[in-house]
Amino acid sequence: MHIITNASVLNEQGELVKKHIILEDGVIRTLIDGESDWSTQEGAEITDAAGKLVTPGLIDMHVHLREPGFEHKETIETGSRSAAKGGFTTIACMPNTKPVTDNPETVQFVLEKARKAGIVKVLPYAAITVRELGRELTDFTALKAAGAIGFTDDGVGVQNAQMMKNAMKMAAELDMPVIAHCEENSLVERGCVTEGKFAEQHGLVGIPNESEAIHVGRDILLAEATGVHYHVCHVSTEQSIRLIRQAKSIGINVTAEVCPHHLLLSDEDIPGLDANWKMNPPLRSPRDVEACIEALLDGTLDIIVTDHAPHSEEEKAKGMEMAPFGIVGFETAFPLLYTKFVATGKWDLSLLVRRMTADPAKVFRLDTGRLEEGAPADLTMIDLETEKEVDPQTFATKGRNTPFMGWKLKGWPVKTWMNGNIVWSE
Ligand SMILES: [Zn+2]
Repeated sequence: MHIITNASVLNEQGELVKKHIILEDGVIRTLIDGESDWSTQEGAEITDAAGKLVTPGLIDMHVHLREPGFEHKETIETGSRSAAKGGFTTIACMPNTKPVTDNPETVQFVLEKARKAGIVKVLPYAAITVRELGRELTDFTALKAAGAIGFTDDGVGVQNAQMMKNAMKMAAELDMPVIAHCEENSLVERGCVTEGKFAEQHGLVGIPNESEAIHVGRDILLAEATGVHYHVCHVSTEQSIRLIRQAKSIGINVTAEVCPHHLLLSDEDIPGLDANWKMNPPLRSPRDVEACIEALLDGTLDIIVTDHAPHSEEEKAKGMEMAPFGIVGFETAFPLLYTKFVATGKWDLSLLVRRMTADPAKVFRLDTGRLEEGAPADLTMIDLETEKEVDPQTFATKGRNTPFMGWKLKGWPVKTWMNGNIVWSE
């Protein structure tokens, strides 16, 4: 038994109330109000959470763990540890590994590695097309049976509309979601940052907003035709948001996610030709950032994900044009959003927590993301007071690629439980 005493937890009205939380056999046994004396509880492990926020374990439905194939960037174990340090207890990993997760053996390999690490719950996505090449559908039935939770070619867009439609039909039959990286290649052509001010100033090829939105629009129509649950990855543009908002208003089964960096940074913030500011989709205009924030608040964007994408320092040192896309995300996500949106009074704490727990659980029908009797004992304890600088050298991930180095933040996770076990402690 484990007792977390004097925790500040959010009630259904979004108010902070004090609770004592009893964990037993991997589940939340009960939540108790008021003053209690726990000193006589024999054999119980006690954590005093006085002054700390305790939330359901955070959920991140879009991450890159890089194993198999790119273990120099991250492994399932280092990625899991980084997630736990960031307060996450459930993460869903993308299939653009080597080999690509386009076969049941690789799905099982990921699940087995994650189980051995035993740090967080890892849910694998499987590829839509063989090797993510867009030419041939994978065996959805076998991949679902092996434990895949959805289908995506994240990293690239599915270029062929008929291929996407066939994928959606098959996924709908299997009651599985299609998760789409939206990018029309004919409009991108070696772009490395968004089309706009920064690209112009530095003579770089820009990635236009339409390259994302054109796939969102196409896929919404295909989702309407097939009835599939269609989930849009890392939305970054005003135009995509407009299309998603309209689709939702007429009842099409579409959900969407947004990353912290697209809520916090625009291309005008990029300090120079530093590839730690290079990700896909790229940082967009301030207007797009405002649209993303508004859409997260009104629910057009359902959930927050990190798109945690570690790379080695050598790879990121290749410069803006040649370096790979992506930044790490687990260990800074909650502190960034807490400090910039909640501590400044712009958002309710309950909104931020919901978009990282209950809402992803609802969108992907997970049994986690709730702090109540009988729920899995996946919990995160967060210090909302202590200010610390982002220092990549202290990261648990192998990646150091972050644009947030040196930012002074509050809201750092200090202890994480998965199935009632402490999986990370400061
Ligand atoms: Zn992507």
